[in-house]
Amino acid sequence: MMRAVGLRELLNLGVVIARGDLQRYARGQDGFTARFEQRLARLVGVRHALTVNSGSNALIAALAAAGIGPGDEVLVPAYTWVSTALAPLAVGAVPVLVNIDESLTIDPQDIERKITPFTRAIVPVHMQNAVCDMDTIMAIARRHRLLVIEDACQAVGVRYKDRRVGGIGDLGVFSFNQHKNMSAGEGGAVLTNDDRWFERARMFHDPGAFIRGHAPTDEPLFSALNCRVSELTGAVLHAQLGRLEPMLGTLRARYPGVAQIFAGQPHCRPSPHNDPENAVALSVIFDDPQEAQAFGQTQGAGRLIDTGRHVFTNWEAVLNKRWFHERMNPHQWAPREIRYRAEDHQATLDILARTCRVSLGARYPAPVMWLQKERLRAAIARSAAQRVGAMA
Ligand SMILES: *Cc1c(COP(=O)(O)O)cnc(C)c1O
Repeated sequence: MMRAVGLRELLNLGVVIARGDLQRYARGQDGFTARFEQRLARLVGVRHALTVNSGSNALIAALAAAGIGPGDEVLVPAYTWVSTALAPLAVGAVPVLVNIDESLTIDPQDIERKITPFTRAIVPVHMQNAVCDMDTIMAIARRHRLLVIEDACQAVGVRYKDRRVGGIGDLGVFSFNQHKNMSAGEGGAVLTNDDRWFERARMFHDPGAFIRGHAPTDEPLFSALNCRVSELTGAVLHAQLGRLEPMLGTLRARYPGVAQIFAGQPHCRPSPHNDPENAVALSVIFDDPQEAQAFGQTQGAGRLIDTGRHVFTNWEAVLNKRWFHERMNPHQWAPREIRYRAEDHQATLDILARTCRVSLGARYPAPVMWLQKERLRAAIARSAAQRVGAMA
């Protein structure tokens, strides 16, 4: 089984240290970071990829690049890492929460309900390698002239039909933090086919953009944050990209065998997928939240609502509309009052209370995976028996 990180990363880092220059722009297009960006863009099927220092900042840079700001509403799912909801606030816009459906991704029907004259963009999030219903979302966006910024932080490299996520919307965003499909500890990327948005994202991420010798652009210089990566990050990411496809291949190969365990059960079933043929993630939805809670105790499984951090009810700063300076608070610039109420998102909470994620063991050797499947079979039999007992 392939390691998550090892000799290849070490060798690339050794090269950077031997060169003695840890800045990404020192070697221009020959540096690891620049070569990584070219390979990443090719993999995803887009013209441009820009490496930045986090997925959170990649989201902010993408929104800034597309010119989203005060007065704008951005649709985000009620189940995602909090950064998805914080990013619109960072550019002066406000997030509007949208329910998820059983696929655990943003519900296209609820998107339609949440669109107002102020909506500018939709941020579909591919959660835990489960892809969004992109065909429907893109059609809605075109009809209402909205931008689509894909948050593919949790699904780097994952396929949707004949495409790759992050390359389907107007802009796409990746994270390379510790818990993602590929990692440099921290990191992120912005992807797009649009030359101007790319220029703007590059300008936004680097206060020194004007001294880097980039090709001339008509885009007037604007003030920027520093979201650059060092060449050390680029060196690690360059090596990590080589590990991505084999890892996803393992997940894809294991999906049917593990999903099978749950497919014939009377009280639960594998969560629906928006592209079942490319499934690389498994979740199981139960009829009964208590049964989901009991099953969620199993090693390699977990009930989604118990993971807490990704559920909107725990996004205190967002719900309370708190910003670091009251006069910078985007809600003051919003053309209408946005309300964040748990009762408006019961559909999301209900699904999360009945759904457990089930690990496909990306890093498990085959014998460990065999044991894990036995463990899952035993756990599901136990929870079914408890149910029968409870009804008797
Ligand atoms: C991890 C993650 C982010 C943020 O990425 P960081 O690199 O941690 O800043 C954004 N959105 C989603 C869905 C994520 O999972």
